[in-house]
Amino acid sequence: MTAYMEHKDLTNEVIERGRTNEIADGVHRVLDRIAEAEAVAGRRSGSVRLLAATKTRDVGEILAAIDAGVRCIGENRPQEVTVKAPGLAKRLAERGYALGVVRDAASGDDALAGAGRHVPFHLIGQLQANKIGKVLPAVDTIESVDSIELAEKIARRATMRGITVGVLLEVNESGEESKSGCAPSHAIDLAQRIGAMGGLRLQGLMTIGAHVDDERTIRAGFAHLRRTRDQILASGAEGTADCTELSMGMTHDMAYAIEEGSTIVRVGTAIFGERAFI
Ligand SMILES: *Cc1c(COP(=O)(O)O)cnc(C)c1O
Repeated sequence: MTAYMEHKDLTNEVIERGRTNEIADGVHRVLDRIAEAEAVAGRRSGSVRLLAATKTRDVGEILAAIDAGVRCIGENRPQEVTVKAPGLAKRLAERGYALGVVRDAASGDDALAGAGRHVPFHLIGQLQANKIGKVLPAVDTIESVDSIELAEKIARRATMRGITVGVLLEVNESGEESKSGCAPSHAIDLAQRIGAMGGLRLQGLMTIGAHVDDERTIRAGFAHLRRTRDQILASGAEGTADCTELSMGMTHDMAYAIEEGSTIVRVGTAIFGERAFI
């Protein structure tokens, strides 16, 4: 049990009106910033998706973000996924949305991002192998795959369940020791091996921007991730044709990331405010 989970009831569904408005304002501001960055970069409007990073936020806060226009959420810890998923799924169903894994009864396959009535649920934080079973019933995509060993274990679980799990390969572009992610020099080889695994659908690459103030350094990491993605696509290797996503950009570097080609920005603080825990 992570310490802050004892301080805050993450299943809470009812929040104050003032807090609801604060979160709605946050969502609208972020959507505006995304639109502006798309325009500056000369990119098509709507080409960048907003994923709300919801760690430490309760169900009520997350629903407020969804009601304000968020259409994709991401959690860091398997434990938070487990605690929040039932309440979120129930309240989203009342609004006509399905959360996370959507099974297509006809094909038996999972229908990802179908028809817009779906709120994708991603895992964006480190995953220990013994927690895979915990997250797979809820999340449709795991963005934090950074080794063949982990990919193989997820693939095995997915195959056992008869599902396909979306994965992004996490790359440590900044080289900072505190960060997870594979070495940039291994990314193409790993992506090709993951692409060939049954039970997984390789959807792209993910990185966390360098923890520095220097714009050039931050941008260089994002640009390198984009070139890596392009090389993977150009390789034509089995299972790499869907490796199109670039999940990069957070509260403080989303504009740079969008200019460097991001397709998913993961934003927490700019939507919900500073985190009280972690
Ligand atoms: C917390 C987190 C984010 C969002 O960070 P903010 O700075 O709050 O926008 C994005 N990605 C990951 C992996 C995170 O853990």
